[in-house]
Amino acid sequence: MKVLLTGGAGYIGSHTIVEMHEAGHEVVVVDNFSNSSPKSVARVEKIIGKKVPLYEADVADEAAMDRIFAEHKIDAVVHFAGYKAVGESVSKPVEYYENNIGSTLTLLKAMKKAGCKKLIFSSSATVYGAPEKCPITEDSPTGNCSNPYGWTKYMIEVILKDYCVADPDMQVVLLRYFNPVGAHKSGTIGEMPNGIPNNLMPFITQVAVGKRKELAVFGNDYPTHDGTGVRDFIHVVDLARGHVAALNFDKKGAEVFNLGTGTGYSVLDMVKAFSEVNGVPVPYRIAERRPGDIATCYADPAKSLAVLGWKATHGLEDMVRDSWRWQSQNPNGYED
Ligand code: NAD
Ligand code: UDP
Repeated sequence: MKVLLTGGAGYIGSHTIVEMHEAGHEVVVVDNFSNSSPKSVARVEKIIGKKVPLYEADVADEAAMDRIFAEHKIDAVVHFAGYKAVGESVSKPVEYYENNIGSTLTLLKAMKKAGCKKLIFSSSATVYGAPEKCPITEDSPTGNCSNPYGWTKYMIEVILKDYCVADPDMQVVLLRYFNPVGAHKSGTIGEMPNGIPNNLMPFITQVAVGKRKELAVFGNDYPTHDGTGVRDFIHVVDLARGHVAALNFDKKGAEVFNLGTGTGYSVLDMVKAFSEVNGVPVPYRIAERRPGDIATCYADPAKSLAVLGWKATHGLEDMVRDSWRWQSQNPNGYED
């Protein structure tokens, strides 16, 4: 298939180009580089040994999107483009709603004009809010999000379901990601957070490389095995392969899948595994709980295995080793 990746220069998108290529698909990328660099795509081209058509454009720019669909016969779109910083979404709600929802609406208009009927959307486990039980199945209640970023994901899911009602030929896959970490084994592509990392793994790697003094562990009084928060960390290459599996899912309407491993690790499990596997210390201190955090969140990935034939194959060691290879080889991300 020929697949358009919106936001394809970003962390998950760049890894997905590689996996799509390995599965025999052709990829076209559109990105406005608001949170990425064209260098990631150049590095992907080195990994796969092939040029990738790359458009610098905003997905909310209808004329630009029409041009892409006119220049390529796109069979399916994977929609990664969007802002994703939880804390920033609280201080800039208008920008988040405008960019994440606005770009999705424009994309849908362009797809309609071009007759493109297949869309895979990057949703998030954040739509489950504070889950009543773990592991979380796809039919668990959604909503009750704790920040505007989460609400944009929730609202886009609603919009895409409505769109499928209006166009019964449409195929939409809503992928709810758990906590992506790690990097391609080459160590040449990876996550490049802007400023102070919000997420745990990039914070750990920046402490390990000496860019930050210590990790603040947000709370050690949660009802978990060691008191620190538990999450379902998933290797980004496994996550990327989940998109390839979703491409092969041939069913009309909107369908939801969790992309997680089904195993939860705590913050201190991650710190310990990182230090032991890589032989690098990660100084930390226990700090206050972070507002809005939940104690435990991990997926039930059984539906993804049963229906998509997908499951995560990378373990904790792969995750911490590959995160460190990327960070240690590229202390300043793509600026090196
Ligand atoms: P990322 O920021 O690395 O990638 C997003 C890409 O979209 C960036 O390259 C950015 O420049 C681009 N972009 C943003 N707005 C755009 C627009 N209007 N037009 C064109 N390009 C635009 O983030 P990521 O971690 O790769 O995440 C990809 C998607 O997955 C996002 O939608 C994110 O919300 C979602 N997601 C991420 C996580 C995570 O922890 N990384 C978890 C759940 C869901
Ligand atoms: N966390 C932490 N220190 C940090 C960043 C995160 O202790 O600097 C904890 C956070 O409280 C949570 C876990 O690590 O329990 C995962 O946080 P992240 O922001 O990566 O993912 P999310 O909470 O969005 O699932």
